[in-house]
Amino acid sequence: MPGPSATGATTWRSHARAFAETRLAPIAERVDREDSLPSTIRSELAAEGFFGLAIPGEWGGSGGDAQSTVAVLEELAVHSPAVAVLLAVHLSVATTPLLEWGTEEQRATFVRPLAQGRLLGAFALTEPSVGSDAARLSTRYRREDSGFVLDGAKMFITNGGSADIVLLFATRDPGAGRGGISAFVVPRGTQGFSVAQHLDKLGLRGSETTELVLDGVRLGPEHLLGPEGGGFQVAMQALVGGRVGIAACALGVARAAFEEMKANATAEPEDWKRSVVARAFTELSAARSLVDAAASRKDAGLPFEEAASCAKLFAARAAVEIASRGLDVAGRRGAIAWSRPERLLRDARVFPIVEGTTEIQELILGRALVPAPDGLPVAR
Ligand SMILES: Cc1cc2nc3c(=O)[nH]c(=O)nc-3n(C[C@H](O)[C@H](O)[C@H](O)COP(=O)(O)OP(=O)(O)OC[C@H]3O[C@@H](n4cnc5c(N)ncnc54)[C@H](O)[C@@H]3O)c2cc1C
Repeated sequence: MPGPSATGATTWRSHARAFAETRLAPIAERVDREDSLPSTIRSELAAEGFFGLAIPGEWGGSGGDAQSTVAVLEELAVHSPAVAVLLAVHLSVATTPLLEWGTEEQRATFVRPLAQGRLLGAFALTEPSVGSDAARLSTRYRREDSGFVLDGAKMFITNGGSADIVLLFATRDPGAGRGGISAFVVPRGTQGFSVAQHLDKLGLRGSETTELVLDGVRLGPEHLLGPEGGGFQVAMQALVGGRVGIAACALGVARAAFEEMKANATAEPEDWKRSVVARAFTELSAARSLVDAAASRKDAGLPFEEAASCAKLFAARAAVEIASRGLDVAGRRGAIAWSRPERLLRDARVFPIVEGTTEIQELILGRALVPAPDGLPVAR
């Protein structure tokens, strides 16, 4: 079994830190400039056991729990948020839903190779004209013989170009709302399933973000995940876990921005810079507490939806705030294109958007704190 021999979060953290410092830090600038990761990165992550984090050993997992997972994602994101996001998506919104909703046969076919890094996963909910309000999907499926035929398009899909399997959501009737949506496992190479474009992004460069097209994609019944019509629930449950992972990635960027800010303040110290560093330190500490709290609740088997939204909302905001103030502290150096402070701000700025925007986290939390009348659409 790859990964460290002891499996506590502290051990996983030091294991990931060593990998990030030796392997990711030296290539960080190149990954950003070239917007691509080394072709060997998947096999390297697999060899470290990262693809099997928090997956039970019987399904090929490498131990650890949610706290180990957030520790690993934070450490990777300090030097490469692109690698951290690749892993976060693979683990929490691709592999975990297959484990939680899959039949024994689906688990055997997909979860084991995903956990061992022999397959890469992606999650495709967003469409060219559907984002936060996921109940309005327009990618359609129809039943044919004993299987399904899918048509439509998916947009902004992380890992979309190289994923071996995509957990994808489609509706039998765009007017049917949440109850019309089903979840499908679509293998790469299925006839009619293609990558239409790779998107060039502001930040998280190196993380693949793609448009996928489905043109008469035929799937057998074994590719339906969960009950027909239960896809919205599969997606929402996956996204709650996904938010904890993305919060950890944002935390890693916030920490990198804080360390950069502190080094720049130390190089040319002034009192106003000390105040900025102090505020950033407080925000970073608070973000860490919220990420830890969400992961701890998950590990304890407690409801963690609100904790996940708090962590995602706050860590993303902290990353942007610290990286932005870091540019002030860096002064003239922060104005240089491709400089580290500039890259960190571009990376940070993507986190309030992915896996449910900040406004959507506020809606989720607000509705939990001040209950909404029945029937309101639950956006993500
Ligand atoms: C780098 C990157 C990677 C991504 N990876 C994936 C992926 O792997 N899989 C996937 O399915 N999707 C992915 N996405 C899509 C992402 O989840 C969506 O961008 C996100 O859900 C928001 O949808 P939208 O961009 O269409 O914004 P919209 O929903 O159009 O929202 C636009 C603005 O309006 C606000 N808004 C919307 N509704 C409300 C409301 N009810 N109340 C208040 N404000 C509101 C939003 O907060 C936002 O500021 C990715 C996006 C990015 C940028």
